[in-house]
Amino acid sequence: MTSETTNTTALNTNETKELESLDEIVALAKRRGFIFPSSEIYGGLSSCYDYGPLGAELKRNIKAAWWRSMVQLRDDVVGLDASIIMHPKVWEASGHVAGFTDPLSECSKCGTRARTDHISSKKYICPKGTKKGEECSFGEARAFNLMFKTNLGPIEDPSNTVYLRPETAQGIFVNYQNVVDSTRVSLPFGIAQQGKSFRNEITTRHFTFRTCEFEQMEMEFFCRPESMLEWYEYWRGTRLQWFKDLGVNPEKLKLREHDSDELAHYSSACSDVEYRFPFGWSEIEGIACRGDFDLTAHSTASGKKLLWRDQVSNETFIPYVVEPALGTDRALLTFLTDAYKVEDIDGNPRTVLSFHPRIAPNKLAVFPLLKKDGQPEKASELYKSLKEHYQCIYDDSGNIGKRYRRQDEAGTPLCITIDHQSMEDSTYTVRDRDTLKQDRIAHADLRQFLFNYLGF
Ligand code: ATP
Repeated sequence: MTSETTNTTALNTNETKELESLDEIVALAKRRGFIFPSSEIYGGLSSCYDYGPLGAELKRNIKAAWWRSMVQLRDDVVGLDASIIMHPKVWEASGHVAGFTDPLSECSKCGTRARTDHISSKKYICPKGTKKGEECSFGEARAFNLMFKTNLGPIEDPSNTVYLRPETAQGIFVNYQNVVDSTRVSLPFGIAQQGKSFRNEITTRHFTFRTCEFEQMEMEFFCRPESMLEWYEYWRGTRLQWFKDLGVNPEKLKLREHDSDELAHYSSACSDVEYRFPFGWSEIEGIACRGDFDLTAHSTASGKKLLWRDQVSNETFIPYVVEPALGTDRALLTFLTDAYKVEDIDGNPRTVLSFHPRIAPNKLAVFPLLKKDGQPEKASELYKSLKEHYQCIYDDSGNIGKRYRRQDEAGTPLCITIDHQSMEDSTYTVRDRDTLKQDRIAHADLRQFLFNYLGF
């Protein structure tokens, strides 16, 4: 392979700044087209966000990485894509109609509403307070159901009330028998799905961390009751490792085991994968032992026995469940926050998103050094051929330094430049986003170089 290092301006970072708040991420996300406020031309809509061109690619890549590791690379997990609107009895049986609530308190003077357990972490200054700076006076907590209601059909009537699902998990439980009957799964096995969920959260905050419309990636892993705790340990480790394998700083990741008073009534153990955001350690994924709660509840409510029959002994029983449940938007905020760096390179600041190549929105950028001497034509030809294999962009505007900066802020791992030497010997300059190292790679060796570097 022809490969020589042509420029070792190798990174001489004097300092990498720690993020103090999410403000810089919010600004970069808007500036570079990752995340926009929803309906912005109408003033935006509280807690709703739209993913721009780079954000949409990043999200697709995160979902694909999860699906690949949780379904495609495994022999014991199958996929599902259930509908968002389900029979209302599903939510009665699961306990959501009666109990999917948060405590809500209201200020007796100005009517401000807040989640009771969030009140102590924020100062609510009452606009109707009698003294300057007076805080809201919150009353007793009342239970507020987080499910969004709507009607199926043209008539608004309690008889056709349906809910937007508040989690994807129940779509899996109600399809348990369908999957068992239509596939060759055998215990233990998992059913995974990705999709939108909706929660009418009382307080939304921290950008996309907590919103009312979000996506989840959940997997229900069915096993023998006596092996649940073993599988729980397995999934705790596996899920934490997934974030590390995709480049998240291990020092900012931890598993937090729930205290017994935090556990849902049906859960015997639960852990959160937490990430240290600028606003503190926070849950990004939950791994819970759900026992036989859901299958039992749906068996009782539907009258259909949701069991496992052992082929050898003919014994029947309700399998137990371990559930790793991750929010896609929260995962994206984690990857975005973790990748964000402002480096001081010999006195010049450089903003860079060091995404793992698998999730980076664009894998490659191709530039002609000059807009003459046949370089744009050669660069465009290379770009078209690479695009067949990698998400790739072409850029010939501004000078090369500006193009590199744009790609650093977009998190593109490699930039390939066609220069006067490329016109003579078909070699290209390939520049590494993180080290700034530049290699001279021959055309014939490029695909192998990219495979080695990107890992696919
Ligand atoms: P939280 O305590 O933060 O409200 P939760 O424990 O209720 O979350 P789960 O029901 O376990 O969350 O949902 C699994 C995952 O779905 C969470 O770990 C999170 O990543 C994501 N998630 C839950 N609620 C929201 C939300 N309102 N906005 C964005 N993501 C969410």
